[in-house]
Amino acid sequence: MMIRILTFICLILISIGCKNEEKKAIEATNSSEIRTERADNFGIVIHGGAGTILKENMSDSLELAYKSKLEEAIRVGHEILKNGGTAMEAVTKTINVMEDSPLFNAGKGAVFTHEETNELDASVMDGATLNAGAVAGVTQIKNPIDLALSVMNDSPHVMLSGKGAELFAKEQGFVLVDPSYFYTQNRFNSLQRIKMAEQEKETKVSFADPFIKDSKFGTVGCAALDKNGNLAAGTSTGGMTNKRWNRIGDAPIIGAGTYANNATCAVSSTGWGEYFIRAMVAHDISALMEYKGLSLAEAAKEVIQKKVPQLGGDGGVVAIDKNGNVTMEFNTAGMYRAHMNAKGDLKIGIYKE
Ligand code: ASP
Repeated sequence: MMIRILTFICLILISIGCKNEEKKAIEATNSSEIRTERADNFGIVIHGGAGTILKENMSDSLELAYKSKLEEAIRVGHEILKNGGTAMEAVTKTINVMEDSPLFNAGKGAVFTHEETNELDASVMDGATLNAGAVAGVTQIKNPIDLALSVMNDSPHVMLSGKGAELFAKEQGFVLVDPSYFYTQNRFNSLQRIKMAEQEKETKVSFADPFIKDSKFGTVGCAALDKNGNLAAGTSTGGMTNKRWNRIGDAPIIGAGTYANNATCAVSSTGWGEYFIRAMVAHDISALMEYKGLSLAEAAKEVIQKKVPQLGGDGGVVAIDKNGNVTMEFNTAGMYRAHMNAKGDLKIGIYKE
């Protein structure tokens, strides 16, 4: 009898043991699935500026040129992310491609100031550390986004401006370009048209190019999520045509033009900088997610379709959240934009859909 009871107890213990092992195995499978899923999840989204971008003002060849440059840029960042690179590397390298193109108002294609110079602004933010770097009003930096990154990594500061920023750049081994590098005939013509309109209307300050009906075309920006779940964002611009008095827009201002936080999202803005500063656009989107529990799409809609226009401003954002959801929200006629997910699906847009 005793032996039977002992055998019975042993069988029960063995079966409990087996069940536990089974449970552990299931847990292990689930958690490794979650990890793999997490590791496979990444994404990238870019903009090349928002504004009065209308199909009727665009030739087929120019449209094609924009689309192929956007695709070239986003594929650079996507490849970095696919190979396990950081979101910050993807953001800066993607922006470099657009900075080097005369199509966009950043780097090579920067717009002209009233004094017929080019003053460039840029910023980056790392969502993992909430570290940030920015430069404003630089005139000799070929790729201002790289200098913004260096301010973040190599200086104790967040934002440097003008000559001081360029001194820092030299110390960090950046090669300074002659300001004439930024000359493009298109941007120069645009400034002249605005100046002529100013004279005709005897208005003191105008930013509206009567030909394109806008003066803030082509700022570039990028937001990315990497395989480690880290977010980053960056923005680079020449600002607004005919700007004076060392005007600085939203692009180099953390919280306005750029924001990234691993707890919420990464955002890059483009539009009328004065309003984007006052609305703290990029941080506001993150804050609506963090404090009010809004989704990324809801938060971006709230800020871009309500808050900014209520103030009188216009523009848009691209953003990606910690789960890889993407939004490309704008209240202007168009915004140059593109998105790629982990599967490699590519979406490119210019006008409203
Ligand atoms: N936001 C930029 C600025 O105001 C312009 C733009 O986005 O095109 O400087």
